[in-house]
Amino acid sequence: MSAVQTPAIILKVQTLGEADCLVTFVTPARGRLQGVARHARKSRRRFPNVLEPLNRVELWLSGRPRREMEFLEKGELVRAFPGLRRDLPRLAAAAVVAELTGELAAPEGAAALFAALEQALARLEEGAAPESLLLSFAAHLLKLGGYGWQLKRCLACGREPTGPAHFSIPQGGVSCQECRGKAASPGVALNPGTRKLLVASQTLPAERLSRLIFPPRQAAQGLELLRAFLAYHLPRPLKAWEFFDQVRARTGASGAALPRQENKTATSQEEQ
Ligand SMILES: [Zn+2]
Repeated sequence: MSAVQTPAIILKVQTLGEADCLVTFVTPARGRLQGVARHARKSRRRFPNVLEPLNRVELWLSGRPRREMEFLEKGELVRAFPGLRRDLPRLAAAAVVAELTGELAAPEGAAALFAALEQALARLEEGAAPESLLLSFAAHLLKLGGYGWQLKRCLACGREPTGPAHFSIPQGGVSCQECRGKAASPGVALNPGTRKLLVASQTLPAERLSRLIFPPRQAAQGLELLRAFLAYHLPRPLKAWEFFDQVRARTGASGAALPRQENKTATSQEEQ
């Protein structure tokens, strides 16, 4: 059977036996897939610099019909994101966005999710603020994956909340202060600024999301909502959240976009 070429973004690479790799990746046509790269650890010739998480690559697959597992015949690197590997907050945000894309990427609709992930990685590589980017892209990916939030009008009375609102995690939408008692719990508080940023995240095209900046208070609120929503609605917790939390605890919460040079200096000082 001849191999089929596909664009892919690598999500995870695990060793398999003596010489093989088990590779999880997302594709625009079929969503998240797993495949075996035989002898990839002994001979790198067929996969030069390909099998690294977050790399944008082209893969040649020879899957067998009705089998879950693909075979990776060869691969080519299209774009690596070396800047992410030098910057833990951006790497952690990228890891969460990539894992979420994999969770949401059913074959139908995977193309838009794939394109959004590629955008997110490129913007983070260019120095986008990690928390703002994570929030805007996660909300965007959730909308693409069928989890559009009702943020503009109260779930109960249909009016736009004028002040602070209450977001119901099970219902995926807001209640105004008057109707708060009718909302299913658990819920999180949402101030007007956070609500507007999340509305924009779910409505703007992916290429404009990196313009959305969540100030620290809105970022904290947005992250609380996102964490609770994903924990409630996804079949399993995102492993990358743990990494994201560890990095956040170590480096301090920051919504700022720092020039790359400043970050490098901070890292090298830390290492000395
Ligand atoms: Zn209401």
